[in-house]
Amino acid sequence: MPIQILPEEVVAQIAAGEVVERPASVVKELLENALDAGADHIRVEVTGGGRQRIRISDNGCGIAPDEAPLAFYRHATSKLRTADDLTRITTLGFRGEALASIASVSHLTMVTRHESAPGGLLLRLAGGQMVEQKPVGAPLGTVITVENLFYNTPARLKFMKKDGTEKRHVALIVSRYAMAYPQVRFVLEQDGREVFRSSGSGYLGDVLVAALGLDTFRDMVELRADSSAGPIQVYGYTSVPSLHRADRTHITLFINGRWIQDTRLAYAVTQAYHTFLMTGRYPVSVLMLNLPPEDVDVNVHPTKAEVRFRDSDGVFTAVQRAVRRAIIDLAQTPAMRGGYYTEHGKLGDWHAGDVASQMDLNLELDSAGQYARQRSGLSRDEAVDPTAIPAGPGAPARPRTLPILRVVGQIGATYIIAEGPAGMYLIDQHAAHERILYEQFMEEHARQGTPTQYALAAQTLYLPPAEAHLIEAHLDVLRHVGFDLEPFGPNTFVVRAVPAMLASEAPADVLVGILEDLELGETPGQASIEDKIITRVCKQAAVKAGQILSVDEMQGLIRQLERCQTPLTCPHGRPTMIHMTTDQLARQFGRMG
Ligand code: ADP
Ligand code: MG
Repeated sequence: MPIQILPEEVVAQIAAGEVVERPASVVKELLENALDAGADHIRVEVTGGGRQRIRISDNGCGIAPDEAPLAFYRHATSKLRTADDLTRITTLGFRGEALASIASVSHLTMVTRHESAPGGLLLRLAGGQMVEQKPVGAPLGTVITVENLFYNTPARLKFMKKDGTEKRHVALIVSRYAMAYPQVRFVLEQDGREVFRSSGSGYLGDVLVAALGLDTFRDMVELRADSSAGPIQVYGYTSVPSLHRADRTHITLFINGRWIQDTRLAYAVTQAYHTFLMTGRYPVSVLMLNLPPEDVDVNVHPTKAEVRFRDSDGVFTAVQRAVRRAIIDLAQTPAMRGGYYTEHGKLGDWHAGDVASQMDLNLELDSAGQYARQRSGLSRDEAVDPTAIPAGPGAPARPRTLPILRVVGQIGATYIIAEGPAGMYLIDQHAAHERILYEQFMEEHARQGTPTQYALAAQTLYLPPAEAHLIEAHLDVLRHVGFDLEPFGPNTFVVRAVPAMLASEAPADVLVGILEDLELGETPGQASIEDKIITRVCKQAAVKAGQILSVDEMQGLIRQLERCQTPLTCPHGRPTMIHMTTDQLARQFGRMG
């Protein structure tokens, strides 16, 4: 083909492809225009996933009659005058492309009335060509109706997803803008049914209840902007560690009121949960970042969903710090705080008066082991798991990190109820045992350097090539934690020994578990490979949920937990216990004066 300059409509359609990828992109652009026009009430109606019809009505400033046709020209905008203005964009739009692009791939009708005009104006376009223009009566604001989207671009139409998928995208877009503009009332109607509404109260929390549901919102904590933190302000809501999701898509980020996609910042959020969330789980967060417009470049991509920062490290740190602070503050609220005893047996964070008066503690004499033996007639190790590693004669006595707890019973063969000087404790038996085994393992490892092994009658293990390769690559680490494995022909290994605490487990099961963890790769917030393997070993060896325990077994488990360095979370970062203080109980029963 000879070289030719393309006709205007073809250029427009090519350009439209960048801005208007799917119905949700139309909704996004029209919402941005309505918000830029200062609307505080925006209604979105969508039929047939958006391909049949999208209508967005706003009560913004409207467009003056003589300017209205101009809005459909490419590069026509009221928001930018000079290239210099690009360095301080405060509106959502600025490229002057959206209306032209949308009009070129649909049948579009606009009714608009400007504050200064006595009446409204109706414009109708088909495939970007103006086909009708007439005065009409209309309230202040703008209504844009987009019908038969992509009717003239069959290639794009072919790639359209099912209506349901498009509906979800539209709902997501509307809810995001509602979060960014809590003072604006949004209503979304799909196929005649109202599916989302925000109140316009100005409170982000109200929007989140509408967008995420009350149950999710209840498990989120507020991050307040810290005015002393410099030019980068971070605020919003983020989930408590017990609420988490399988992927990063529940981390929603806004920069100066604009939703953005930024893997690095999402990573900063995830990192803030390090040791609070298990690997491969992600928080639910809605975070607003405000920073001077000249420090952000929003003109990176036509959809304006990517940005560049002048100081991206500074932004990263600000986000990570703000989220971390919120989670740590939370972990220190009385309900979750376990308190501790110092080496000298002095009370640390517990309400000293309470404890001393309620219980006659003699920390020096009452070692955990003695107590357990008195009660159960078993050594503390036997009481839980015969294969657990004994602390050994050279082991230093560990300081107590929890007060002495008395077992009351077990719920659902999964949780242990215990009573302590400062209230009630509900303990996850599996998570608690994981924590105990993990610390015992680490302690022994540090003290002796060599892991205690349990010799097996040699077993062969055959693995698919990819997995065999993973094992091969990590043979050293595996040996270092107590697995004696030897390659034995292609994709085959001989297993001669496993870490002692796994004596009663099938080695293949354990190794498959380890492989799963290794395959997950370098997920954010993850510790070393060795740590990963040890964590898995402990998980496998720990008592499971659903396992009925005798009172003695439970008491033994708790005695050990009381001496853990970090008794409040399991090695994956999940909580091991929920604590209800005596005060909280009294309050719940209306006993407080
Ligand atoms: P941009 O938003 O980048 O300026 P658009 O093509 O989206 O480009 O819109 C072109 C112009 O039309 C805007 O600059 C604005 O002046 C006007 N406009 C579009 N939609 C509205 C609306 N809902 N209310 C008022 N003015 C609007
Ligand atoms: Mg726009």
